[in-house]
Amino acid sequence: MLSVEAALEQMLSRVEPLATERVDVLSALGRVLAEPVRSTRLIPPWANSSMDGYAVRAGDARPGAALTVVGRVVAGTLPERPLAAGEAMRIFTGAPLPAGADAVIPQEDVDATDARVTPRGTTQSGAYVRPAGEDVRVGDLVLEAGIVLGAAEIGLLATLGRSQVEVSRRPRVAVLSTGSELADLGTEPGPAQIPNANTYSLMAQVMEAGGVALNVGVAPDRLDAIGERIRRAREADVLVSSAGVSVGDLDLVREAFIAAGAELHLWKVNMRPGKPITFGSLEGRPVFGLPGNPVSAMVTFELFVRPVLLSMQRRRRVHRMRIRAVAAAPIRNAGSRWGYLRVSMEASDGRWLARLTGDQGSGILRSMVAADGLAVLRPDTTIETGEPVEVIVLRELTSL
Ligand code: AMP
Ligand code: MG
Repeated sequence: MLSVEAALEQMLSRVEPLATERVDVLSALGRVLAEPVRSTRLIPPWANSSMDGYAVRAGDARPGAALTVVGRVVAGTLPERPLAAGEAMRIFTGAPLPAGADAVIPQEDVDATDARVTPRGTTQSGAYVRPAGEDVRVGDLVLEAGIVLGAAEIGLLATLGRSQVEVSRRPRVAVLSTGSELADLGTEPGPAQIPNANTYSLMAQVMEAGGVALNVGVAPDRLDAIGERIRRAREADVLVSSAGVSVGDLDLVREAFIAAGAELHLWKVNMRPGKPITFGSLEGRPVFGLPGNPVSAMVTFELFVRPVLLSMQRRRRVHRMRIRAVAAAPIRNAGSRWGYLRVSMEASDGRWLARLTGDQGSGILRSMVAADGLAVLRPDTTIETGEPVEVIVLRELTSL
């Protein structure tokens, strides 16, 4: 059976990056940068003071020397004249250093009158001076294409005067749930019905991965009904359906994909939960048939659909962080498939402790709620307490 890694590689090799668009810099938060950004500015544009104090020539500013105060420069103004030997200039944080000065003495380190200032200690050339270009120089490659824009990147773009920036378009992802037993949100489940979870967890995962989720509804287990929903998904860049991909008589999603004209590239991956995942292309667009159990659907989305969506957005790093944690209690993966087990993570003595979140049944959504990550275990293995375990981190780890 195909490994998770081989399956993902096949999927990634078939996806095309989406077009790019220009957006206002603040709307670019969380988006993938689609252009390399080079600096057109020198930041800071001139040497300036990092303290309130006196601009001096370090060589003149011997302890006990009386320097003549020849002016005052505040942030937002230029010094009125250069500094000559034996002189000092009152200066405030962020103000440009006068020509001739090469250091600043903080005001708390001098004895001063209005006219004269006397350093108490020695002064090094460059002290409390932020040189021109210490942050960014003209021509520097400051942001590489393929990164996700966060608050610091947005600040840097603003510093460079960029009010707009080129990012990848968000993928539009149609989400379809199949199953005659499903009662959708807003309707009370009938006697033989269960509530539809997958449409909503998967749409949320799409949004977390930077996509725009389109709900194409719930189809009963009938070829024509599924086919009709697949047609509704035509305007999307990707179709993600769940359930109906196993080998039962009523598992019709693969057949419906084929009937709609899709080419199916793979089916069944060596993993638990999620084995029957299906991937194909329909008119050049990726289509996923995820398994129906709520946890299987989420885990297969996480391992396959998310990296595909990120790759379509031209993101360089499409993989989650994996860390080496330590089992806080035995973690067992019985059976012949690779296990992706839900674990919570807790920091202790400088290491991360991983612990199963409870029942690993593929319908137990609550153990997904409690999960910080997925522990990856080879077939038929148990990791004993204190032994190392590899964990795919699913969310921000905050405990300390
Ligand atoms: P299937 O892959 O169709 O055999 O479905 C596997 C299990 O997942 C069955 O117990 C289904 O009832 C359940 N299931 C399928 N789709 C959903 C859904 N959208 N929300 C919640 N459970 C589902
Ligand atoms: Mg079913």
